[in-house]
Amino acid sequence: MARIVMKFGGTSVANMDRIRAVSAIVRREVDNGHSVAVIVSAMAGETNRLVSLCDEVGPPAPALDARFVEYDAVVATGEQVTAGLLAGVMQNLGYRARSWQGWQIPLKTDQSHGQARIKEIVEDHIGEAIDQGEIAIVSGFQGVSPEGRVATLGRGGSDTSAVGLAAAINAVRCDIYTDVDGVYTTDPRITKQARRIEKISFEEMLEMASVGAKVLQTRSVELAMAYKVPLRVLSSFDQPDAQGPGTLICDEDDIVEQNIVTAVTPDFHEASVTVLAVPDEPGRAALIFTKLAEANVNIDMIVQSPSREQGFANISFTTKEVDLDRAVEALEVVKSEIGFNALQSDRNVAKISVIGVGMKSHAGVASTMFKTLADKGINIQNISTSEIKISVLINSDAAEYAVRALHDAYELEKVK
Ligand code: ADP
Ligand code: ASP
Ligand code: MG
Repeated sequence: MARIVMKFGGTSVANMDRIRAVSAIVRREVDNGHSVAVIVSAMAGETNRLVSLCDEVGPPAPALDARFVEYDAVVATGEQVTAGLLAGVMQNLGYRARSWQGWQIPLKTDQSHGQARIKEIVEDHIGEAIDQGEIAIVSGFQGVSPEGRVATLGRGGSDTSAVGLAAAINAVRCDIYTDVDGVYTTDPRITKQARRIEKISFEEMLEMASVGAKVLQTRSVELAMAYKVPLRVLSSFDQPDAQGPGTLICDEDDIVEQNIVTAVTPDFHEASVTVLAVPDEPGRAALIFTKLAEANVNIDMIVQSPSREQGFANISFTTKEVDLDRAVEALEVVKSEIGFNALQSDRNVAKISVIGVGMKSHAGVASTMFKTLADKGINIQNISTSEIKISVLINSDAAEYAVRALHDAYELEKVK
């Protein structure tokens, strides 16, 4: 019997009706003779609710405790509920099923509570159970740290639980069921022109996830790529007997017809900081970014430009909106040490990225992007590129408009 992993996200298990609908999809695979492990997320909105409760505890804010250990103890509970409920529903239908929490497998992580990485998944116990016909319903998002405490894998981490488990038990495939019927050329909530992509390369999916497409957690794509886990994104809202084909995430070589640009991805959670009039001498940038690293602030786009004052430069960078206050505080403390004049910060920005492996071999993608935005009167504040991606930072008020314009300009409605 082939082993498969199925993962259901928050909207897919949002209430008892949805959990029953999920049980029908799981039954289809079990009845087809597969050994099945199911990963579940918390009910839609539940993790946000738990995070806000943590925020209410007070100092050491913003979360329950500085090391995020108790934060994890709280936020991991949502997945425990859905695993138990789905296992119960399956049992009532006459199937052998049981719930598994991270520590029971165990899914072992490192110590970075709140953002933990999977170190090892012990597969014998759960592998044996599913081979004997029991359906394993596993709480996603959580594992156990070296200290024996519950650790969570970062927001959206159930995708990573699923791919990690699929790699560990050598599953023939890992199916991610969500509220869209595949990966689209852009977030389908932004434009009706968005199209489902039949096959996308791991590399492109990785870029999409890392620049903010919510559909898969970045780490899950990294793991799928490293362990060659065949990964599909499917809708849990299709009828079990009329399941659509979804999107297959696979090696670039398995895609016959390559697009130059495959997707446009907006990220509304960016914020920008400009450090004004930094002395233009060796070591100043190092000092700025060391202080930010010490404050655990992740940096994305960086631009240095000459300042109006002779011998000085302005340094701009972007970070996640949630890290903005921490970034500003970290720099204000060392203002005289760095020797800058002032700080400017802006939450009203969005990053728009165009992605496609075809960029490696085709010219003109950047010029189309810049010309399209210019024609629409949209000002570009920052630019960054990789081999298969170009990102620009713009005012967030223009972001959706920009996405639609770029989607049209690259004719993404024709992408296969
Ligand atoms: P789940 O709760 O199932 O994990 P998520 O909310 O994390 O689901 O991810 C699914 C959502 O991702 C969709 O509802 C969609 O709005 C959003 N999304 C953003 N970009 C894309 C894209 N390019 N293709 C498909 N969905 C996308
Ligand atoms: N419930 C967690 C979250 O909302 C994990 C997940 O859904 O993947 O981030
Ligand atoms: Mg998700």
